[in-house]
Parts: sequence; structure tokens; C-alpha cells
Amino acid sequence: MKKNVVYLLLFLFLPELIQAQQKNLVQYVNTLQGTDSHFGLSYGNTYPMTAMPFGMHGWSPQTGPNGEGWKYQYFIDKIRGFQQVHQCSPWTSDYAVYSLMPVLGELKVNQEERATTFSHDNERGMPHYYTVTFNNGVTTEMAPTTRGVHLRFSYPATGDAYLVLDGYTALSEIRIDPEKRQITGWVNNERFVNNKENFRSYFAIQFDKPFEAYGIWENEQDRLFEGQTTGEGKGYGAYLKFKKGSKVQARAASSYISYEQAWRTWERELGKDKNLDQTKARGEKEWNNLLNRIVVEGGTEEQLRTFYSCLFRANLYSRKFYERDENNEPYYYSPYDGNIYAGYMYTDNGFWDTFRSQFPLTNILHPTMQGRYMNALLDAQEQCGWLPSWSQPGETGGMIGNHAISLLTDAWVKGIRTFDPERALKAYAHEAMNKGPWGGANGRAGWKEYWQLGYVPYPGSEGATAQTLEYAYDDFCGYQLARLSGNKFYEEIFARQMYNYRNVYDPVTGFMRGRTIDGSWTEPFDPYVWGGPYCEGNAWHYTWSVFHDIQGLINLMGGDRALTNKIDSIFTIPNVIKPGTYGSVIHEMKEMEIANMGQYAHGNQPIQHTIYMYNYAGEPWKTQYHARQIMERLYNSTERGYPGDEDQGGMSSWYILSALGIYSVCPGTDEYVIGSPVFEKATITLENGNKFVIEAKNNNKENIYIQSATLNGVPLEKNYITYSDIINGGDMKFEMSNEPNLKRGITKEAAPFSLSAPEK
Ligand code: CA
Repeated sequence: MKKNVVYLLLFLFLPELIQAQQKNLVQYVNTLQGTDSHFGLSYGNTYPMTAMPFGMHGWSPQTGPNGEGWKYQYFIDKIRGFQQVHQCSPWTSDYAVYSLMPVLGELKVNQEERATTFSHDNERGMPHYYTVTFNNGVTTEMAPTTRGVHLRFSYPATGDAYLVLDGYTALSEIRIDPEKRQITGWVNNERFVNNKENFRSYFAIQFDKPFEAYGIWENEQDRLFEGQTTGEGKGYGAYLKFKKGSKVQARAASSYISYEQAWRTWERELGKDKNLDQTKARGEKEWNNLLNRIVVEGGTEEQLRTFYSCLFRANLYSRKFYERDENNEPYYYSPYDGNIYAGYMYTDNGFWDTFRSQFPLTNILHPTMQGRYMNALLDAQEQCGWLPSWSQPGETGGMIGNHAISLLTDAWVKGIRTFDPERALKAYAHEAMNKGPWGGANGRAGWKEYWQLGYVPYPGSEGATAQTLEYAYDDFCGYQLARLSGNKFYEEIFARQMYNYRNVYDPVTGFMRGRTIDGSWTEPFDPYVWGGPYCEGNAWHYTWSVFHDIQGLINLMGGDRALTNKIDSIFTIPNVIKPGTYGSVIHEMKEMEIANMGQYAHGNQPIQHTIYMYNYAGEPWKTQYHARQIMERLYNSTERGYPGDEDQGGMSSWYILSALGIYSVCPGTDEYVIGSPVFEKATITLENGNKFVIEAKNNNKENIYIQSATLNGVPLEKNYITYSDIINGGDMKFEMSNEPNLKRGITKEAAPFSLSAPEK
């Protein structure tokens, strides 16, 4: 009898026990995804960073010269260093960089001369571990921590074993302590910090083997100072010599605050783990914990690889820019004013690229972090004078729009209410009624005309129509936050502005167009021509940028069929390129051409929500078709894995959401619009412990259409679900088929949020 009870208990709890077991999902991640890119063509413009989630520093092999944005390119067969990295994009290059490079035989410090050949067959890039064996037999391994790295260099006995530390090209300081087997130093190498004088990345490195020889070098003239232990000035580095055939471990941590803090972090993150395998095991566990937050089942091996490689990249930016003091309390160096503050800070993100998908995904996975982040945004505004829009690590003002308000409102709408909404609205209003000193997204280019005329005129401001459209959406977010927090003053102000998209819609051509200061349309007009009133796109790409009022756009166009026919034609018209004011072909144009989907340019953000708009106009099966086509044709797990710039998790998050069968068309509302899930089953484990399960029965490459759907057992006729549906846990079930169901999701009740009602 007792035995039976035990069996019964086992039977009852076995499924739980199995479920509690972690899947080994890091094995599917390829960190080299998207690395086969160059200036003229981006398959992601990524580099094989090994880093912890949202880590302050990552580490990457380096094939390009110091200071070059393309720090690792798949087609180059020589590595010149292993680098501490942060870079969001090759277009911005990196900051606070230094590197270590094992050299065999003769000592060569110069970055060209020391570069060593390797083969991708002997390289493996994983979230928690990177390793490569050079053709000369030297193996390098890296296992990251949040603010440091554990390295291991294994030298063959065929030559002398050197390690070169490259202090890069700007100001730096190096100190070697042979007794303690340490190197400490700092690098400046700033990019976009407001207090350039005091910006320093302090590093502390501890080696596990004694130095046989050492010295300082100066990289401008390749001068060597043998036996010297200190160097300070422009481009100083160091070198060490170890016993032939050594296996050398180096543990390194960095701080923007002080040497003392660098060692404190070192102790906390690396002090215990004397062996790289321990650091690696910790990193593997943490990444597996995170990746297990979304367990997908039923796809092909390649779909699993693509999904988890994208999920890795969706969890790297924004960086934690804060450190932990002696009491484990967060504090940070502000990249905006150079002072030290208590609290959290996050940076390295261009919101133009990420407000659409990365933040709506992060709000599902990491609401606690988002709560801290939203306050940090407002603190940054006080330190900078402006809300961050494209930070790296200080403000660059890159791209257009004031999309910090999208993040803030999206968080608020979803119940992440850690911040003072009035503080957010004031910061946003200042943004919307001024122009800052940096790029177009720092304050508002053309803000006066926008308020006076209801649009930004062209000629006048490059990207004027794109600006008008994005300002109107941001104003909707301002309105929404004001409305939900009971702020009548700002609600009224922004309610007047959020329909301004109407002012740049030309009913004759059916496109969003440039408009001159006297109110006439900018001539000549050709919807294929890039630039001018559009930003990194043309009229075919920008006509859809009405996230908050797609029904309003349908009304302007003359009804549902007018909208869906026009979206249909994006895919059937020729993929010709007309560079317009860009003067020549830029990589985004080339990517559209290669994708071979007409004027559909998934390689860049403006059009990425467009296929989900069929859900607003009674033809959801077309969303389902295109979502699957795009995922199948434009994404994979290889070095050519993205159809354009990955952009700090933006492109990856589009894939993750779409592969789950949902997408956030209008951040600032709580809705996720339905697409077509790739997998038979996806289980999302929320931070609160709830689980949201998405099942798609009979799903496969042909059966991409939703026949029927239920949410928690109740028939789901709507083409969207809400954030609380997800976060409260539950299940959404689809029956899939190879034929569209022309009757499901076709009513206006099924359509997701729009400001406007349909015209009668
Ligand atoms: Ca982009």
C-alpha cells in the first residue's frame, strides 16, 4: 500500500519535476549570426559578443583595426585582439575599449603585425563562452560576467608565449605589478559622453601565472619600453611574457567609477572562480534561465537556432550602466554630466530602432528592470537636459522622433508604474517644444513649424514627413500617459497634435508626402524615391507610420479594401531603387533589393509593422501569410542571418514576437496583434511565475493560416490579445490550416486599437 502511495505521488508530481528541469537552450544560440556584413550591405551588422544579459561590458574577437565600427567581419581570416565591447552599431563605433591578444614566437605589438589567421571551423560563439584556436595553435577562451570576463590563453610550446594589451588610441594609463601578477589601467576612448575629461573605463586584471618578462609600449610609434611598469598618455599598452607552453588565465573587471570599484566588482563577479570553467558554468546557467523563459517546441532544428539566437540578441541592450558599491547598492557614473549618482542607469540604445519591438518584448520578460529603467530615463533627462533618444553611452540625438515617451507610456499602460507620470510628461513636453544641440532626435527638428502648421515642411527639414508622422505618434503617447494619469493639461495639449498625420496624407496619390511651408505638395513626387521628406525610406515605406490610428488611415484612404490593396501592392511592385537625396545606394536599399519582396524593406524599421495592419481591415490571413514568409525567407541562424541592421535587439525582437504569433503594432497601448506562430507550442514563463502558453495545432510550413482560436478556452474572434492576458497567465490555442479562414477576424470588433472609428 505504502509503495502504491509513493508511486501515486511520483505519478502526480513527475510532470512537474520534468517541467522544472531546465532545457539546454544556449546550445541553439549562434553569436556569429549576422556577422557577415560590411559598409555596403548588412546581414545584421552584428559582432560575436559574449556577454551576460544587459551586461555592462561584453567581449568580442576583433578583426578590424582599432576604432573601426566593423570590429568583426566574418569574411576576414585574421584576429588582432579580444576586446571589451559596448558598441550598439558599426555606425556609431565603440567606446571604453581595450583588448588582449596572445602572440606566439616573436613579440609583435603592432595590431597589423600581430594579427593571426584562424578558421571558423575552430571557432565557437555562444552567449556565455567564446573560443577560437588560431592556425598557430594558440587557443583563446572567454567567459563573461556582467562587468568583466574570464579569459584563458593556451599556448603551444612551439614558441615564446606573449600577451599584448592594447590601450587603444586615445588617453590611457597602464600599471604592471609583476609581484601581484596584475595589470591595472584605464582607457578613455570616449564616444558621445558629455564630460570627456573625466570619462574613464578603469580595468583590473589578475593573472594566474608569473610573468617571465614585461614592458610598456606606445602604439603611435610602436615604441617598446622593456621592463618598464607604468605608462600614461595617448595609446599606451603593455606586454607580458609567460613560460613557453603555458595555459594562462586572466580575470578582468571594469568600472567607470574608480580602480577601487573595479577591484570590488572583480572580487564579486570573478573572485570565487579561479578556473574559467566555473565562470563559464555560471554564465551558462544564467543564460539558460533566461532562454527558458520562452520554451518553444515543434519547430525544425534551424527554427530553434534562429529563435534562440534572436532571443540572445533581444537581451543584450540596453546595458546596465550601474555598478554595486560596498553595500551592494546600485550607483553609477553619469555619461550625461560626469557625476556619480546613487541608483540605476541604463544606456546604449537607439529608441527609433527599438521602441517598436524590443521594449514591448522586454515589458513581457523583464518588468522589474523596466521599472528601474523608466526612472533612470527621467534621471538621465535631468542630467542631460534632454530625454535620451539614442544613447551610447551619452546622448547622440541620432535618427528622428522623441520615442522615450513611447517607452514610458508603454510601461505605464502595462502596469509598470514606478515613475512619476508628471515628471515624464514635463520632460516630454520640453522635448516636443525645443531643439537640442545634437542630432534630429534630440528635442525636435522643425518643432515650431510642427506646432504652427501641424506638419514639418519640406523643403526645410530633412525627413520632414517622417518627422511629422513620428511626432504625431509620440504625441499620442503623451496624450495617452496624460489621460491615464489624470493630467488634463497635457492631455489637451497632445490631443490636439496626435492627428497631425492627416496633414501629410495626399488623397490624390494615396501617399504620405512632403509638404511645403505654403501648404502645397512637394514636387516632383515619386513614391520610389528615398530620402527628402522621408528618413531612410520612401513613400512606400512611410505611408504606414500611423501606429495609433490605423483606422484613421483607412478612412483617409477610402476604406478597408483601399488599405489592404495598397499593402498587397508593396509586395508586387518592382524592387527598384531610386536613391533620391541619398545620392547613391545605401545599405538599406540594397537589402530591400536582395529580399526581393517588391518595396517591402524589412531591413529597416519604418515598414516593419505594416503586414500586421491587415488585422485592422478584415483580412488577417494576409498578415499570417506575410509574417511566415518574412520569418522563413529573411531570417536564419547563420552569419547572414538578418535582412539588415540588427539594431540593439530591434530586428531580433521582431522575430521573437512574430514567431510567438504576436506583434506590438502600437506601443503605448496594451495590445499585441496576432500573426502566425512558427512553433506548435511556446511556453512563456513570466517574472511573476505565471505561464502563458501559445499552442498551434497542425502547424507546419504549409499550415500557416489560423482556422480558429481560443483564449483560455473561450473562442477568440479578435485579432489581438492584451498584455494582461499574457502576464496573468493562460493559454491561447490555434487550429492551423493551409487554407485561410475568410470568416475569422473580419469585423471591426476584431480590429486592434485605433483612435478613430470607422466611417459610416
Ligand atoms: Ca535600422
